[in-house]
Amino acid sequence: MNRHLLAIRHLERPEIEALLSLAADFRDRVEAGKTVDSGRGRTVGLLFFENSTRTRVSFEQAANYLGMRTVNFSGAGSSMRKGETLRDTILTLRYERLEALVMRHPSSGSVRLAADHFGGPVVSAGDGQHEHPTQALGDALTILERKGSLDGLVVAIVGDVAHSRVARSNAWLLSKMGAEVRFVGPRTLIPSHTGKLPGTVYYDLRAGVADADVVMCLRLQKERMEEATLASVGEYRRLYQVTRGVLRSAAPDVMVMHPGPLNRGVELDDGAADSPASAITDQITNGIYVRMAALHWVFDGAAKPAAGAKK
Ligand code: ASP
Repeated sequence: MNRHLLAIRHLERPEIEALLSLAADFRDRVEAGKTVDSGRGRTVGLLFFENSTRTRVSFEQAANYLGMRTVNFSGAGSSMRKGETLRDTILTLRYERLEALVMRHPSSGSVRLAADHFGGPVVSAGDGQHEHPTQALGDALTILERKGSLDGLVVAIVGDVAHSRVARSNAWLLSKMGAEVRFVGPRTLIPSHTGKLPGTVYYDLRAGVADADVVMCLRLQKERMEEATLASVGEYRRLYQVTRGVLRSAAPDVMVMHPGPLNRGVELDDGAADSPASAITDQITNGIYVRMAALHWVFDGAAKPAAGAKK
C-alpha cells in the first residue's frame, strides 16, 4: 500500500508513534554504521518551489541512506516559468517514471493537488503556511531524546504563529501526543483562527514561557507578511526575544529549539541559541532520520518489486 504524508493534523496518534519509532530505529542503524537500503531501486523526485537548506539536504541524505535515487527539480529553472500549470507539471513528472515526490511550495494546499494527480506517494516538505509535517516529526524526535516522553510536557511556541507551518504541525503533533501547547507572541502574529489550533494563547513572553519544558522559537516570516503585521523588528526583539534571562522563568532543564533559518539576535540571542539548553543542531540531524522514516512509510516499507514480478 502506498500513502502520502501531507499533514500531521489527519494522522492518528499510533501513526505518529510508528513514524517516530521508525525514525529512532533508522537513527540507531545509521549511527552504528549499518546499511539501510529498504528503498533500493526506487527513484524519488525532490521538488522545491521555495528556498530550503535543511529540509532539502536532509531529504536527499535520507533518500541516499535508504538507497534511493533522487532527481532534483526546482521551480526556478522549470517549464512553470513558461506558463505550465502545477497540475501539468506534476503529471509530467509522473510520466518521467518518478515513484515518489517530495514537494515544497509557497501555496497552501498544493501538496494535496500533487497527491491527487501524481499517482504515487507524495511527502510534504512544506505546504505554504499550512503544515510542515517532517519538521514536527524531527522536533518530536529531538524532544524525546532529551525528555523521554512528550506526554505532559509544556511547550511554548514563540513568535510568528500566523505565518508558520512549523507552528501548525507542531501544535497538532504535540497535542495529539499529550503535551500542553502554548502560543506566545504579539496579537498581530497570533491570528484569530489560532483558536482552531490546539493550544492556549499568551501575549506576554514571560507568562508564556513560565515553567515551560520546551521553548520553541519561530522565524519571523517576512516573505509571507502581506501587510504591516509587525510594528518593527526592534520592538519584536525587545518584547519577544528569547534570551538566557527569559529562560530563567522556564523549567530548570528547559530545552530551546528553532527550526531555522535563524535570524540571530532577533528570535533568539546568542546566549540562548548557543547554550547547552539549545537543541538546534540536534533538530537538524534528526531531520534526516524522520525523513528516512517518511520515505519508508509512504511505501509501507515495501521493497521495489523485481522487474517482471506480478503486482
Ligand atoms: N524552515 C522552516 C520552514 O520552511 C521554518 C522557516 O522557514 O521559518 O517552514
